[in-house]
Amino acid sequence: MTSKDGYSWTKAQGLRAGVPSIGVIEPPSNVKSTDTVYDVIVVGAGYCGLTAARDASLAGLKVLLLEARDRIGGRSWSSNIEGYPYEMGGTWVFWGQANVWREIARYGMQDELEISYDFSRGINKYLLSSPQGTQTFTHEEEDALMQSSLAKLVNVDGCLGKTVVPFPHSGVLTPEARKYDHMSVADRLAEIKNDLTPNERLCAESFVLLCSGGTLETTSFYEFLHWWALSGYSYEGCIDYLVKYKFRGGQSSFAINFFKEALASGNLTYAFNSPVATIQHGGNGVQITTRAGQTYKSTKMICAIPLNVLNDVTFDPPLAPGRKAAATTGHVNQCVKVHAEISDRDLRSFTGISYPHNGLIYGFGDGETPAGNTHVVAFGGQHNHFHPEENLEQTKAAFQGFAPMNIERLVFHNWSKDEFAKGAWFFPAPGLLSTHLKDMRARESNVVFACSDWALGWRSFIDGAIEEGTRAAITVRADFAGRAKL
Ligand code: FAD
Repeated sequence: MTSKDGYSWTKAQGLRAGVPSIGVIEPPSNVKSTDTVYDVIVVGAGYCGLTAARDASLAGLKVLLLEARDRIGGRSWSSNIEGYPYEMGGTWVFWGQANVWREIARYGMQDELEISYDFSRGINKYLLSSPQGTQTFTHEEEDALMQSSLAKLVNVDGCLGKTVVPFPHSGVLTPEARKYDHMSVADRLAEIKNDLTPNERLCAESFVLLCSGGTLETTSFYEFLHWWALSGYSYEGCIDYLVKYKFRGGQSSFAINFFKEALASGNLTYAFNSPVATIQHGGNGVQITTRAGQTYKSTKMICAIPLNVLNDVTFDPPLAPGRKAAATTGHVNQCVKVHAEISDRDLRSFTGISYPHNGLIYGFGDGETPAGNTHVVAFGGQHNHFHPEENLEQTKAAFQGFAPMNIERLVFHNWSKDEFAKGAWFFPAPGLLSTHLKDMRARESNVVFACSDWALGWRSFIDGAIEEGTRAAITVRADFAGRAKL
């Protein structure tokens, strides 16, 4: 099936909107009666909503899952093109992420992971490109350079940040954490400007921008410390947790299992292509109206809509002021993620930075296509932001910013222009977490708000989405259990 989402380009076919994905659900709805009052309506079929809908339906609740798109997975989905999976959004997972690994084990997918990198052949080099030219390093030198630059960045306490974020899954921001949350990474870099070599500065800045998709000024220094802590306080940990292990069959091969299990419970009704326009809720339950004017009723609701688009839905009563303010501020991540299939086989083993002049900042060989070509994945963000589909020549030129390459295919999803995400993974500007983390997590009468964007641990990750979906289903089940006891 082909999703309306995503783009592909080849010389022969030109630019095409929409790419094939096993995450597209057919038929798009199994709603039989619009008079049913569900126990719970889940809005959003990303990993959070899928987890919540599955857990609630397996617990015996009558669940309706409403999703704006034609597919599951939200910000994590893959397209299979000519037998090769391109990850359009969330990609890498790791066994150190407890929630995601529990699910991988549940679906017996432990042996379906592969490693993105292959340093066994080809040029096998780290290319550090700046306006001054391109320097070439071994991958061992790359690791040493990245570790030394990031260690200087995070070392606010003489312990590589361990005393600032000693419990990375805690929901409490200590006064010290708040202090760093009000600082941007630009502020921190100003503090250590005399400690970094020029190459360390290039590496630190580009790695931070890879994480935040924002600018140095709009990146909360605390949230970077939080990622660092989650990754075991080391650069090696960052690689293991953030960019190394992915599904051989793509993310949609994982997400589909959640959906199938929920459906098999017999308790799941669903409707795709159903953007929700209005959510009315109060003592008598919840009434939801889609943009097409269809109404659905339930006792409880789980709202798994991302922060940056929450204000596009009308809530009655209006959203609580703190949540409304958080959604108005939004998160800053406008990541540009683009795949290129290239005929240069030697580049399978390159990693590279092209900064600060280039549109794509960070790229590397991510796989080998069935044709024997190299698959390169590259990332940009707010820094030199661009829309790939609007200027394909600029997009191809940005790949040449790493090394000369012959591009045969481009594949991407424009997350900035995506009306149901308005950005990529959550990354906060200074102050957002200190001011609004609690607000984002609070429930409002019969509505439980759940999303990776305000998870406690792997916030911004698939793991965080599953953490939140689990929490939401437990909350709603407890509501029903409480009522049954009365
Ligand atoms: P979403 O996936 O955004 O799900 C929300 C759902 O709500 C969507 O399906 C949306 O269509 C729907 N929706 C929105 N508005 C409405 C409406 N009005 N009516 C009905 N439905 C609506 N994470 C990792 O762990 N590893 C990675 O390597 C990684 N890389 C990433 C790369 C990119 C480019 C992106 C974008 C994300 C990446 N992430 C990664 C983050 C991860 O993808 C997300 O954190 C996670 O998928 C979010 O899940 P969610 O269910 O909380 O939200």
